[in-house]
Formats: sequence, C-alpha cells, structure tokens
Amino acid sequence: MPSPAPETSAERDTEPTDFIGALRDVVFRTRGKTFWSYLSPAWTALTGYTVEESLGRNILDFVYPDDRAENSLRKQQLESGEIHSSRHVKRLLRQDGTFVWIEVDLRVLYDADGAFLGSVGTIRDISDRIALEDAIRHERELAAVTLMALSDGVLTLNAQRRIEFLNRAAADLLGLQRAADALDRPIEDVLTLESRELRTVLDAACAARQPRTLGDRCRLRREGADWSDVDLSLIPLSGAEDGAVIVLRDVREQRALQAKLSHQAHHDALTQTLNRAGMLDALRRAHAVFRRTGAPFSQILVDLDHFKLVNDHHGHAAGDEALRQVANALQNALRPGDHLARWGGEEFLCLLPHTGLEQATALAERIRSAVQSLELTHGHQPIALTISAGVSATSTDGKDTLEQVLQRADFALYEAKQAGRNCVWHERMAGLGVLDLVNQVQDALRVGRLGVVYQPIRSLTTGAHMGQQGFAHIDRADGVELSMARFMPALQQLHRAHWVDEQVIPRVLEDCQHSHPHGPLHGDCFVNLSADLLQRPARMHGLLEAFLRSDPSAAPLSRLVLELGQRPMLLDVATVRAALQPWLDAGARLALNQSGSGLSTLSYWTALPIHFLKIDANFLQRATTTPKARLILTGIVGMTKQLDCRTVAEQLDQVDPADQPALVEFAKAMDIDWVQDSSSAIARPLRSASA
Ligand code: GH3
Ligand code: MG
Ligand code: MG
Repeated sequence: MPSPAPETSAERDTEPTDFIGALRDVVFRTRGKTFWSYLSPAWTALTGYTVEESLGRNILDFVYPDDRAENSLRKQQLESGEIHSSRHVKRLLRQDGTFVWIEVDLRVLYDADGAFLGSVGTIRDISDRIALEDAIRHERELAAVTLMALSDGVLTLNAQRRIEFLNRAAADLLGLQRAADALDRPIEDVLTLESRELRTVLDAACAARQPRTLGDRCRLRREGADWSDVDLSLIPLSGAEDGAVIVLRDVREQRALQAKLSHQAHHDALTQTLNRAGMLDALRRAHAVFRRTGAPFSQILVDLDHFKLVNDHHGHAAGDEALRQVANALQNALRPGDHLARWGGEEFLCLLPHTGLEQATALAERIRSAVQSLELTHGHQPIALTISAGVSATSTDGKDTLEQVLQRADFALYEAKQAGRNCVWHERMAGLGVLDLVNQVQDALRVGRLGVVYQPIRSLTTGAHMGQQGFAHIDRADGVELSMARFMPALQQLHRAHWVDEQVIPRVLEDCQHSHPHGPLHGDCFVNLSADLLQRPARMHGLLEAFLRSDPSAAPLSRLVLELGQRPMLLDVATVRAALQPWLDAGARLALNQSGSGLSTLSYWTALPIHFLKIDANFLQRATTTPKARLILTGIVGMTKQLDCRTVAEQLDQVDPADQPALVEFAKAMDIDWVQDSSSAIARPLRSASA
C-alpha cells in the first residue's frame, strides 16, 4: 500500500503554542481547584508577571481583593458541577500593584470518570471597554444632572406622546408635587395650554419635522391649577422612536415686567391716572368708533384754579398731594368705562364714551362739586381747591376730528376761567364772544375764506412806492367782514394767532412772486409775525420749507420783512432768535413795532438784525405837542440811522383824519423815512378772498 504523501510544512498548521503565542488574549489552564497550570505568553503583557513565576500559584492571589469573594463562589459552582462554563468580568492584580479589568471565558475539564480536573479558557483585557462604558455613564449622568438643573422645564415624550422624563423645573412650572407622578402619562393628561390644543401643535411639528416655539400660558391639567406664562418649544426627535422634547421657559417675571413697563408707559407716576399717551390711545379708539358707528363721546377738560398759589403757600409736596387727591375725586365721580388722564401739569382730561354733551356737563358739575368738597389740609391749614371745567362733545354730523373736539373743550375751559373759575362751561354756552369769534375764524380758514389786503408804503421824501404790508382779511360765512381788530385779540387770547400767520405769510410770498392778478408786488413786503407762531418753531420751519420747495430760488424771501409786535417782545429773545434763524438765513429781514413799551425792545435791537422800526401815529402825535416825547423820537430816529435802519410811520388812521396831513409833514420833518397808508380808503384788497 502506498504510504500517504508526507505533509509539507506549508500545509501543516503552526504548532499550537506558536499560534497561541500570537494571540492578544491570554489562554490558560488550571489544574485542580486553584492553580495555574498553563498560561500563554500574553499573560506577561497583561499582568507584568512572567509565566514561570505564575504557574503553580494560587489563582486567587491574582484576583483583586474586592472581587475575590465572588470569584470563590463561582469556583465552587464550577467544581460542584452546578455550572460548566462561565463568562464573567473581574479585576486582575498586576505586578506593579495596579489592576486591569478582564473578561474570563472558561469551561470546566473533567476526567474520564467525570471528576473535576480543572478548567481552560481565555482572559481578555477589557479595560478600554470599561473606560468607555464609564465615560458613557458619566456623560449620561452629566446630561441628566444638567437637565435636572436647567431652569427651563424639559419634558421628553416617546412616540406615543407619553412622558419619559421631566425635570424639576418642568414639574415646578406645572405645579406637580412629584415629577415621578407624571412619568409614562400621556402629555395631554398633564399639560394644558390656554389658547390651543397641545396635541394638535405637537402632531403638526412632528409631521413637519420642524421645531416650533409659541408664547402661551400653560398649567397642570387639573381643576383650579394656576396658569403660568411660558414660551414653549416643541422639538421633534428624528429617530426610530419619533419622540419629542418640550422645553418650557418660565416667562412669568418677564411678562410681569412687560406689563409693568406698559403700565408705566401709559400712566402718570404721580396720580396713577392715564398719561397723555395712554389717553391719546383711548381717544383714538373712541374717535374710531364715533367715525364708524356715529356713537358720540364727550370730553371734560379740568384745570385746577389758581394752583400756583397752592404751591406758593403750601409747597410743592403739598401741591403734589393735592393733585393726587383731586385725581382720586375725579376717578370716583366718573363711571366705569370712562377714562381719566393727567393731561398736563395741573390739568386733567376725562373721556366719556357713548355720552352726549348734556350728560357730560352734568357729570362735570358733579366733578366740580366733588373737588370743592374735598377737605384738604396741609399741617393744620386747610387748602381751598376748586376746578374749572370745559366740556365738549362730538358733533351730530359725524365729521369732527379728534383735534376739533379737544380744541372745543379747551376753548370752553378758557371761558370757564374767564367766567370766574370754579365753574363748568360747555361748548354751546354763549361765551364772552371770544370763543365764538375764534370759531368763526377757524371756519373761515378751513374753507379758504381768508384774503390778504395790502397797505402801501411810500417814501416821505420822494413819495415813491417802497413796499406794502399784508394783513388778513376774513369774511364770515354770511359775507360780512370780520374786523381784524376783534379777531386778532381773540385769537391771541386763546394762543391761536399762528393760524392766521400760517396762511398770510405764504400768500404774501406768493404775491411777491408772479401769480398775483394785478401783477407781482413791488418793493418790500411786510407781514406780522405772532408770538404764537414764534413759540412753535417746528411750524415756523415747516412753513419755510414748504415755501422753499415751491420756489427754490427763495428770491421773494429777500423782500420779506417779518414784523414783531408787542407780544413777541415779551418772549425770551433766544427763543425768538432760534425760531427766526432759518428765515433770516434765507434772506428775510425784521421790523420792530414801536407802539409798545420801548424799553423791552432794547434787547431785541442788540440780539437780532433789525432793519426797520415802525413808529405809530399816536406816538408821533404826542411828539408834536410834548417836548419830552419829541426828544425821545429824535433820539430813536437818530439811533436807527446809525444802525442803518429805516423808520416807518404807521397807523395814521388812528388819529383824526383832519390831523393826518400835518402829521405826515411832521414825520417828514423828523427825518422819518417812510409812511404806511393805513386809512381804509387807501388799503385795497389786491387779491380776492378765496382764490
Ligand atoms: P388758573 O386758575 O388760571 O389755572 O391758575 P393756575 O395758577 O392754576 O395756572 P397756571 O397754569 O399759571 O399754573 C399752573 C401751576 O401748576 C404751575 C405749576 O407750579 C403747577 N404745577 C404743574 N404741575 C405740577 C406738579 O406736578 N406738581 C405741583 N405741585 N404743581 C404743579
Ligand atoms: Mg390752573
Ligand atoms: Mg393749567
């Protein structure tokens, strides 16, 4: 028989021990109960002990002390045949005193009779795995602690929308005693939103796989639970589980702060009534309803009488206290639904929605009487306090603007003050004529019934035409002319003279240009400028800008002379200068009117570039008979010449017509430059009323 071909070394397996020697795991065998009988070379790398010094030694010597008890127990189970193999983790001591985590995988060996011989198996170094597991456990713990410690409430939901986890803050926000009570419960059993269905929003967010944030109020789904203001974020989790995370941010403080700020923005700190801004909101709402439905509203404008005296006698703090008390009295007299505001320093405005004039006047009377009966004291001194009130209501034609209603209350208040204070005046009561007159002017201005008439100005030496002054000419609705001597003082009393200026000045400028039916005006164009307009610099600037837009050449401005009368000279000269500056820069010049007290004009002479001085006929006439007046006139005329100013005699119609020719001669003799023809015969309307 042919013998089998000898195996080549290439086909033969490596010697078992060589191949074991290449393994990273230790292969071992124990003999009897406790001794190593074989250890592969990897043992040395694992423990630092040589194989030689380890063989024959007790296995337990190599087990980390804390793990020995468990090791002995397992050994007994193996020896007794209770188990035949084992795979377990324990720590092995190394030669340098440290330990290494190992996984032992062994099987028991028996002899032919089935008696316990020992065991065989492998030892694997698993310290990397243990370290990784530790790290993961640490991360998890950190995440859990972080979630718990977050001030935002966090709830995680599984795919069935049941609560898997919630942190302390979420439990607090929901008012849960124990967070654990909520676990595994459907979210909608626990959490309710005030204004929407949580499940719907959640499903939508998960379906879209888009996080959503909403501002809302939430509470525990329980009768009587408190609402909490929250910002709520829903974050769908994109995983096999398809759960979601809900983050609840507690915004109770933030919302409370917002509410407080909003209150402050609309309320007066001293009286806690609405402030101007708050009242304007309420007024706009009432006015919008009025415009839409015709529902009327009324206003009562209240002003404390002689309040300056209260401050002067009792001090500002007592004044403040009095303001608080008055505000209280007003609030108590008003009905629910009415609004009260501190409208100015010691002025209050009441808005009465759905209320007509009659009812509002009756209420105002109650308010007046309530304030009068207040028993205010400062120390032991009584403080007598009364109010005046002006009442207005929306018109029945439904056309009133808010400003008009307000203005009528203001006018009525003015009448109440004129009537002696501590009284109520309403817009339909016949006043002292001022209100009526101002209303007529306002009507005329609104429909363009204002014209300008010009008084010519000529040279006293040559008789040549030098210029003119424009004045407002207003006709009433019935065609009768309103006298300027009446309506200007009325407007001035109510501080509304700027209404006229704002129409006359642009007209005069326009007439200087080209569009005038009788051809453009020649020479200098004088026009009055009221204190009321000077005190409104924004409107002054607006007027100039509007003109410059229409005529960028600004040429007519160099012929414009703004005339300042008595009232502007009572204003602070710096204020006047600031209001005038853009006009002066654009080329306008100034005239001063000498009809008032001469002294107050001195600061004007120094602070402003004055080009003309108007001297009125009465003063001239006095100078004809009184040496002192004549001396002053001579001085003034001399001064104006030195200052390179022109003098203009005016208002000759104020003296007896028979005296006028002599007065003109006198003016000429006094070296006055020009004269303004003011008699009605000379003044002619150069432009029709409503062009
Ligand atoms: P009239 O009857 O004409 O209204 O006289 P009046 O003194 O009340 O009028 P005026 O408008 O001249 O003065 C208002 C005063 O109100 C001036 C100011 O000292 C005072 N006042 C304004 N606001 C406050 C405030 O907040 N506290 C105090 N204590 N006084 C104020
Ligand atoms: Mg007052
Ligand atoms: Mg006042």
